[in-house]
Amino acid sequence: MKEVLETIPVWDGIRSDSECFICDLMKRAEEDSLRYYLGPAVMVPEIRVQINRTGFCGKHFLDLAAMNKAQPLSLVLDTYYEESKGLFRPLFEKVASSGSARKAQKNFEKLEEAILEREKGCLVCEHMEKRLDRYCSTVAALFESDSDFRTALSQSKGFCTHHTIQLVHYAPSVIKGETLAEFIRLVSALLERNLERVQKDVLWMSQKYKSENRDKSWNGCEDAHHRGTEKIVGVGRLIDVNRKK
Ligand SMILES: [Zn+2]
Ligand SMILES: [Zn+2]
Repeated sequence: MKEVLETIPVWDGIRSDSECFICDLMKRAEEDSLRYYLGPAVMVPEIRVQINRTGFCGKHFLDLAAMNKAQPLSLVLDTYYEESKGLFRPLFEKVASSGSARKAQKNFEKLEEAILEREKGCLVCEHMEKRLDRYCSTVAALFESDSDFRTALSQSKGFCTHHTIQLVHYAPSVIKGETLAEFIRLVSALLERNLERVQKDVLWMSQKYKSENRDKSWNGCEDAHHRGTEKIVGVGRLIDVNRKK
């Protein structure tokens, strides 16, 4: 096992009866990381160097702005802009001195490439990727070593489609052979069964709005539109890390 086990949050997750407890854990990892980069870390020179170099993906830059912590974010942005300025200045100069349209287009292409390169990398996504590795590895390790966990997993609501794929990607670093085959069969069967269940919930939600069903029970389907969306998409997905692969 290459990573430390996250037994407690994974057990808590499976007991939570969530549609996907990896979604819940990843959302928390994302929020922790966003808070970290607008907290006291802003005043640590080495961390500022990391932020200036790597920065954040589009979603996480916007998430940082949405936190409305103006003072730390303005400090971070100022030095990030400064680093960008050093990278872009010679390219801006080339565009400015381009004589023909063809030259201007060609030189602007170079600037565009540098801007796209600058957008790559995200410290929040990097942090989340490490957490995802640990959570997925722990699920696989507990599946192998703890029969109570295996039972709880088989009776759970499983995972969203996105994290089912991630679990199958990470599992071979922890389990092999027949155990791996059993694990893949189980998470796949859980996905199929629970997609079916959530579809029934959204169907009932759609029927509930008919006048003849007005007085019938919601049967716990009041949030089916949210669960139905999150089950297929996942929450707390990695953005930049996926894009670079
Ligand atoms: Zn998920
Ligand atoms: Zn990101």
